[in-house]
Amino acid sequence: MMADVERLAGDIGPREATSKAFYEAADLVERRFRELGFRTRRTEVKVPAGDSWGTPVRAGTSANVIADSPGLDPARDHVVIGAHLDTVARAPGAEDNASGIAVLLELARLAGLEPPDVPVRFVAFGAEEPRGDGDALHHFGSQQLVADLSAAERRAIRGMVSLDRVGVPAERVPVCRAGDRGADLQDQLLAAARSAKIRTRACEDRASDHWSYQKAGIPAARLGKIAYAGYHSPDDVPSVVDQDQLARAARIVWAWLGRS
Ligand SMILES: [Zn+2]
Repeated sequence: MMADVERLAGDIGPREATSKAFYEAADLVERRFRELGFRTRRTEVKVPAGDSWGTPVRAGTSANVIADSPGLDPARDHVVIGAHLDTVARAPGAEDNASGIAVLLELARLAGLEPPDVPVRFVAFGAEEPRGDGDALHHFGSQQLVADLSAAERRAIRGMVSLDRVGVPAERVPVCRAGDRGADLQDQLLAAARSAKIRTRACEDRASDHWSYQKAGIPAARLGKIAYAGYHSPDDVPSVVDQDQLARAARIVWAWLGRS
């Protein structure tokens, strides 16, 4: 996982949603999913011009990279695990959110070796980061994906977990719900953490891709959101990320998937 953080934040660097660097990162993640035995596809994500945390950005196109467990039928029971791949314009995004992508790829690797009973859709989201103020100007990739789901596909998602900022060392792993509908899922994740002997902190949060799912009535939760000095800055470099903390997030989700 640390090698992936290093590759994304150290080698590739800032990955604004429409940039060449973003697509380089998307290619890397898609290649990794394929090597792990997943079918992959991309969806286009249109984003408007705006302001990326102090940097003016143009309108353009980003992408979601989607990897399904073999045999996954989106109209039948499955879960979604996601992490955003983009960064704000000036941050190399080691914690926000190479950390989440690294855990996502590790879970995909484990699921390839020992498939969970429930099929998993893994998503690396494009354009999570804001391009302005308000609910419509962020989480573009997840909003696009949710808008394209049929009613049957929405009902088939038993839970969606967003991995967002999961690597800064902390005593307790934040496990956040976005509303009442996510409470059962939050409880499941908290119980999974207990079984894996990992300490957690229950929280409420709407600032990641799980919110797009929650708004559509799909149970959703977020792991992560630990405060740190380098947030959305050039100081968000690989040294802020802790290997043991990444492992804690991975173990919670792996236990939630019924594995240990
Ligand atoms: Zn983030």
